[in-house]
Amino acid sequence: MRAEAARRRSIAVISHPDAGKSTLTEALALHTRAIETAGAVHGKGNRAGVVSDWMEMERKRGISITSAALQLGYGGTVINLLDTPGHADFSEDTYRVLTAVDAAVMLLDAAKGLEPQTLKLFEVCRRRGVPVITLVNKWDRPGQEALELCDELEQRIDLQPTPLTWPVGEAGRFLGLLDVAGGDVNTYERTPGGAALAVEGHLAPSEARERFTDDYAHAVDSAGLLDTVDHESFLAGRTTPLLFGAALANIGVRQLLDTIVDLAPAPGPRPDLRGAGGEGAVVSGADATTEVLRTAPTRPVEAPFSGFVFKMQAGMDPNHRDHVAFVRVCSGRFERGMVATHERTGRPFATKYALQVFGRDRETVEEAFPGDVVGLVNASSLAVGDSLYEPGGPPVRYPPMPAFAPEHFAAARAKDPSKSKQFRRGIAQLQQEGVVQVLVNEDRGDANPILAAVGPLQFEVASFRMEHEFSAPMALDHLDLSVARLVDDEDVPAVRRTAGTEIARRADGVLLGLFRDVWRLRSLQREHGIELRPLVAGG
Ligand code: GDP
Repeated sequence: MRAEAARRRSIAVISHPDAGKSTLTEALALHTRAIETAGAVHGKGNRAGVVSDWMEMERKRGISITSAALQLGYGGTVINLLDTPGHADFSEDTYRVLTAVDAAVMLLDAAKGLEPQTLKLFEVCRRRGVPVITLVNKWDRPGQEALELCDELEQRIDLQPTPLTWPVGEAGRFLGLLDVAGGDVNTYERTPGGAALAVEGHLAPSEARERFTDDYAHAVDSAGLLDTVDHESFLAGRTTPLLFGAALANIGVRQLLDTIVDLAPAPGPRPDLRGAGGEGAVVSGADATTEVLRTAPTRPVEAPFSGFVFKMQAGMDPNHRDHVAFVRVCSGRFERGMVATHERTGRPFATKYALQVFGRDRETVEEAFPGDVVGLVNASSLAVGDSLYEPGGPPVRYPPMPAFAPEHFAAARAKDPSKSKQFRRGIAQLQQEGVVQVLVNEDRGDANPILAAVGPLQFEVASFRMEHEFSAPMALDHLDLSVARLVDDEDVPAVRRTAGTEIARRADGVLLGLFRDVWRLRSLQREHGIELRPLVAGG
């Protein structure tokens, strides 16, 4: 078991739309042996050929809502690449994926550096203690200077880049990739008449110096200004191994794979709130801070099977409205057919239909190990954050899924007042599954809850399901609010006195103040001399 865990790496790519995540995913698949795919569509290249059958909404928008885990074989290593949906499908699920990985690859566009979505995702990694490898992409095109990009990482997010490779030639004039430790260079050339780069060859340091003269010296000197890779500070989130490349031309991809194998941590022991015979601290998502995670007992990878649900998917099969729970295996061997215990209810959960899903074709998975992802069907009793474990041993409870900072808010009501019962039932189910956050402002009442989301897609999914699954069409009035903060009881009067804000309670009892924008929030804090705590990410 320990060997199976040790040869696994579970990672996600964090990036802003158009940085090249799909291109990189395809390049990674090209360099490896794609073993299996859990989830659905992955990479735009596949999209034409794969009919993702999620629902008409997905087809209409031409986006992939279903998140996927692609399993790649590289040497003796199994790399689980979990998809972080971006673009219009950016949602709370995108953040949740980061609770299921052991490391992240931060993909930057050489011309754009750190962009908003990258920053939000990075913030989640930092708070969750997920170490980050950085790849600067699109070096074949004009962009910023390499040292400028390094400065940006240090200045804006306090992350020290430690280069493994360094480009010879500035962005747009990519001559080769320097191996910082060895001094040798892989060379590339523009194909005649085309924009594409071709891999040319490999030069020893003396040859590279002769051929690239000043460009080589400049690369060596620039890389020399930064510290070398340090595993401990990387794992602690203070430094980031830095690579350069061009995913479109397959440049730098092998180096990235090697770095993932060499530096990204294998699945290890995970905090188990009921571990060591304890009853388990009762913590809400908001309180599952690094402190809770750090001080909880842990469950080793060789313990019997356990895992947690990081994503729920409903209605993937239009003929059969099922619920698929995506589970990250944390310990032990998962075997299809095993009956696990659902920690929250104490009930058995049969895994007869464990899946690897690829588009329309679903393959059953026979076994899985720590770091792997399995999709469990008929999972309507499971919710995001729930733990499953092999019966016979002590109960296992992984920390609850954090509720991430929502940035979109809408007041919901049943379009048809006679459907209020179905409406309540539907809202409760969507809330339990984590499709949207459901908040109640006492002034509005619970027949008129506020739905809160990280991305507007969550509203569309909620509306679709309310109508088609719960037969309770929902009217949504978008609210002019964009920032949420945790509000302590003593701060309530101050927040209440400020026009254009709302106070609403989340299902776990946590009170949130909702504000039009950060300026309004700041002026309130200044005026009343208070400081409201942010939620995880984004805020
Ligand atoms: P995503 O939105 O992050 O998935 O980005 P895509 O992979 O779809 O890439 C966005 C655009 O950038 C596409 O037109 C790609 O062909 C292009 N692209 C991706 N990687 C590179 C690269 O290394 N060099 C260049 N020149 N273009 C790239």
